[in-house]
Amino acid sequence: MDNIKKKSFIITIDTEGDYIWNRNTWTENSVKNRITIRNSSYIERFQRLCEKYGYKPTYLVDYEMCAPSPFVDLANECIKKKNAEIGMHMHAWTIPPFYNLKRGKETGGNHPYIGEYPTSVIEDKVKVITHKIQDSFGVIPKSHRSGRWYIDRKYLAILKKHGYIADCSVIPGKDWTFNAGLTEGSHGIDYRRFPNKAYKISMFNIGKEGKSGLIEVPLTTAYKNKQLIELRPYRHNIKDLNYLVDKCTEEKRDYLEFMLHSSELMRAGSPNFLTENDIEVLYDDLEQLFEKISYHYEGVTLSQYVENMRKIL
Ligand SMILES: [Zn+2]
Repeated sequence: MDNIKKKSFIITIDTEGDYIWNRNTWTENSVKNRITIRNSSYIERFQRLCEKYGYKPTYLVDYEMCAPSPFVDLANECIKKKNAEIGMHMHAWTIPPFYNLKRGKETGGNHPYIGEYPTSVIEDKVKVITHKIQDSFGVIPKSHRSGRWYIDRKYLAILKKHGYIADCSVIPGKDWTFNAGLTEGSHGIDYRRFPNKAYKISMFNIGKEGKSGLIEVPLTTAYKNKQLIELRPYRHNIKDLNYLVDKCTEEKRDYLEFMLHSSELMRAGSPNFLTENDIEVLYDDLEQLFEKISYHYEGVTLSQYVENMRKIL
C-alpha cells in the first residue's frame, strides 16, 4: 500500500472576522468600528493539528483579516515553511471601495452577492483585496472563494484577469436560488447540476467543462439517502462526515475538499459553536476525521492541487 500515491486532501478555511452571520447594515464606518478579529488568536491550534497530519490549509482571507494580528504572524511563518497557502475570500459588503446598493423590499437586508455590484466596482474590490493580501502576507493570491458561495461569468473573468487560477465556490447539489442578496430580485446560484469533481470552467456555462483557464475545485458533497452532506463540521455531524469520507473513498474520488470558517474555531465566533465545550467537541471530531482521511489522502493546498491537475490536463 505504501508506495501507492495517495489522493489529495484540501482544507479550505474562510478566514474572516468574528460572527459575520448576523450583521446586515454595512457602511464604511460600521465596518471600521464594528468588525472584530478576535478569532485570529485561535487559528494556531487548528494549524498545529493540520501539521500533525501533514495537511496544508488554504486560508482564504477577507479584508479585515489582513490587519496585523496573531493570524498574520502565523501565516507568515507557514508560508516560509510551505505548510499553508493564502488565498482570497470575497466579502463584497466589507471590501472597499464601498458602494451603496439599493435594498430590495423583499430581501430582508441580507449580505449582498458580489454579482450585485456594477462591473467597475467588482473589479476595484478584487484589485483592493488582492493588493492588501500582497502587502500583508507577501504573496500573490491564486485561490479564491466567494462570500455566500456566489460566482458568475463576469466575476470569474475578473478573477482570471487578476491572476487567480483556482476557485472553490461551488457546492455541488446545493440550490442557493431561494437565498436573496441585498437588492430586489437578487439570489444565489443553483448548483444542483454542477460537477462534483474538479474541472476547467467554461466561460459560456460555468457549470460545464471549458477553456477559461480557471479551475473549479468544488466543495466535497454527497447524498446520504436524500440529504446533501457537505464536508464541513457542524455540531454533532461527525457520523455524516465519516459517511461522506467513506463514500468518496469507495467512489475513488480524486480529492476531498473540507471547509470551515476561522471564526468557528473560537467560542461564540459563529452561531455553530457557542460554548467552550462545543469547541472541544469540534476538535475531538476533527482529530477523528483527519486520522481517518490520512489513510487514503495526503495534504495539498488548493493551488498545489490545481497546478498538479494542469500538468496532467
Ligand atoms: Zn465568508
